[in-house]
Amino acid sequence: MATNMDIDTRARIDDIRSIIAWSGLESDVEIVPSIQAWCAQREVPEESPFRTGRIVRNAATGRYVILLPERITSDMVSSVVTAMELRGFEREVAVLSDPNTFARHLVLHEIAHGLDHTRTEQECDEWAFQQLRQLPSNRAAHPDAREASHLLSLSQSRAGGRER
Ligand SMILES: [Zn+2]
Repeated sequence: MATNMDIDTRARIDDIRSIIAWSGLESDVEIVPSIQAWCAQREVPEESPFRTGRIVRNAATGRYVILLPERITSDMVSSVVTAMELRGFEREVAVLSDPNTFARHLVLHEIAHGLDHTRTEQECDEWAFQQLRQLPSNRAAHPDAREASHLLSLSQSRAGGRER
């Protein structure tokens, strides 16, 4: 994918929380440096050091927690998108080149598991693509818009500066 911008999940926490609330799933969200490390500390098996999202359930309280890495690198995005392409979503993945849409799909995918444990990976992806189209849009509060204008002003000031 033609992006080298990592996705900062913490910057999107309000949007992520509102998607969870909108879905009706009783779940917390926790943003962690590494999902694998989080799982290792709690003796939850997790093979992948590059895990991009996971939902776990606290056996004592019955409450879900959606785990997200604080930084989703472009390599992680590529591997998630490639897996989806292999599951038959070659056309649908186009929208995921937008970082905000990628993050939303990721959260919706984990919600899909929480709402119904019997769903396969493919069914969770499919459900997430369907919900993406129905999400109340909040473009005005969109973190990407701010990031993009910030980057633009940086590059403009750099272009006008002296060479070092
Ligand atoms: Zn999954």
